[in-house]
Amino acid sequence: MKLDILAIGSHPDDVELGCSGTLIAEIKRGKKAGIIDLTQGELGTRGTIETRYQEAADAAKIIGLSVRENLKMRDGFFRNDEEHQLQLIKVIRKYQPEIVIGNILEDRHPDHGRAGWLIYDACFLSGLRQIKTIGDDGQEQERWRPKMLLQYIQDRFYEPDVIVDISDVWEQRMESVKAYKTQFMADASSDPQTYISSPEFMEALSARARLLGKRIGVKYGEGFLSKKNIGIKSLDALVLEET
Ligand SMILES: [Zn+2]
Repeated sequence: MKLDILAIGSHPDDVELGCSGTLIAEIKRGKKAGIIDLTQGELGTRGTIETRYQEAADAAKIIGLSVRENLKMRDGFFRNDEEHQLQLIKVIRKYQPEIVIGNILEDRHPDHGRAGWLIYDACFLSGLRQIKTIGDDGQEQERWRPKMLLQYIQDRFYEPDVIVDISDVWEQRMESVKAYKTQFMADASSDPQTYISSPEFMEALSARARLLGKRIGVKYGEGFLSKKNIGIKSLDALVLEET
């Protein structure tokens, strides 16, 4: 199955927090999108592997994903090395995405930056025909290099290279985050409260999106970074609001 957009995150919920609004908006425009979770988030303080899978599946439905796969790398300990790069190259070649959206390249959680560079390297290496990989069907895979690689902003703030207007899908975007009940919804569970399970975290998430939206004259925005310049085909792609 070929995808237009493949979003990748080190933990199930990284993509929802970073860019589910953009995915929802693009899927509404008819694009096909999928998510690859690198790990099962097994080191998370709250919830279990089972609840995370259920929550990830619920979020996938809310976003409207065509596919969601978990590569079961080791949470906290996966490396950006040949073994992990090849695992990711196989998935990139399988789905042949035009655009990949990955973790930021440096962040509070060391997994995020490591995943960011793993994705960065795999996207490049996937385009080299001398790197041979075998697909699920037992056939050798074709080389594939995504045309664009973007990074979503996570915990630490970075000046974005582009901001996407997600005002029209804001409610749905927040529903996709709230699908991770054990992570973000303070409840009566005996699991300890964490940095991300408090109501303040959700408020901060909204505030960030409002701030980015304000920069481009809309209500809510999601910001992305890119090592490559971002080209547009037409000025029609610009958000034209007075700011
Ligand atoms: Zn994470």
